[in-house]
Amino acid sequence: MRCNGKYLYKFIYTLSLVSLSLSPSLSGHQRRSSGGGGGWSTSDVRGQTAWVGSGTMLGEVYYAIANKTSRLGFPGSVGPTVGIGGYLSGGGFDLMLRKHGLASDHVLDATMVDAKGRLLDRAAMKADLFWAIRGGGSGNFGIVLSCKLRLVPIPATVTVFTVHRSRNQSTTNLLIKWQRVAPSLPSDAFLHVVVPLYLDTRAGLIAIMADTFPELNVTASDCTEMMWIQSVLDFAFYSTGKPSEMLLDRGNGIGDPSGSWMRLARSS
Ligand SMILES: Cc1cc2nc3c(=O)[nH]c(=O)nc-3n(C[C@H](O)[C@H](O)[C@H](O)COP(=O)(O)OP(=O)(O)OC[C@H]3O[C@@H](n4cnc5c(N)ncnc54)[C@H](O)[C@@H]3O)c2cc1C
Repeated sequence: MRCNGKYLYKFIYTLSLVSLSLSPSLSGHQRRSSGGGGGWSTSDVRGQTAWVGSGTMLGEVYYAIANKTSRLGFPGSVGPTVGIGGYLSGGGFDLMLRKHGLASDHVLDATMVDAKGRLLDRAAMKADLFWAIRGGGSGNFGIVLSCKLRLVPIPATVTVFTVHRSRNQSTTNLLIKWQRVAPSLPSDAFLHVVVPLYLDTRAGLIAIMADTFPELNVTASDCTEMMWIQSVLDFAFYSTGKPSEMLLDRGNGIGDPSGSWMRLARSS
């Protein structure tokens, strides 16, 4: 395909609106239990993928996934308005970084237009190019149109915990210790100086903290158990009580969850 800049821009914008689909890939057990008919399964997390257009905001990705299942997620940024195109091309890190690595590690396939106007998918582009568009810097290697993402398993409950310590409560010592403790925690735990996340229930978190970081004195009242999608809202808007449609807000009002980009979703 050959195209000049003007038409390419329109093409990309269109793709961003029709983009996200979730493709179930069932285990042998579930194929049997569903009579081999396929269909979406929230209980099997293996092999789940999503095709996402490059203009899609991360909030829209989270929203679409959460509408299908509460047991899958994507390690996208804390900011729901961040575009997946720039995010993936820079690598992309979030609160699940310790468990799942960079977001770009979860790109399985991509379509792009290179400088010669060729439309390429993973098979057509060389391995170096596929490597480069996943973290090698934004806009350097061509225009990425869409990406096939591997979704990650999410436990039914995650725990968000916030421990407030003022300056006269040995905060400097706590910060020094945090730098030592944080890298050696189990990978389910992300201990951030601003907002931490634990990919399981509060009891496990309290036990880990008591063992590794007793000075922080994390108690049950510091912790809130919730579904992963609620934690996304909590980090973005400091509240789990906000409607999840706020994740669709592109800055011009709350998005329409029945909008064309979801209606036109296709299976990969
Ligand atoms: C509020 C906020 C929160 C953030 N939080 C995080 C975070 O938690 N983790 C993290 O890793 N980063 C975070 N970032 C950084 C963010 O990932 C980068 O700023 C990213 O480049 C934004 O991409 P975009 O598509 O939204 O922006 P744009 O400005 O549209 O694009 C950024 C660059 O990427 C290029 N680009 C965009 N789409 C494509 C495409 N399809 N093909 C080729 N090139 C493309 C553009 O040409 C441009 O050079 C945050 C940024 C903001 C503003």
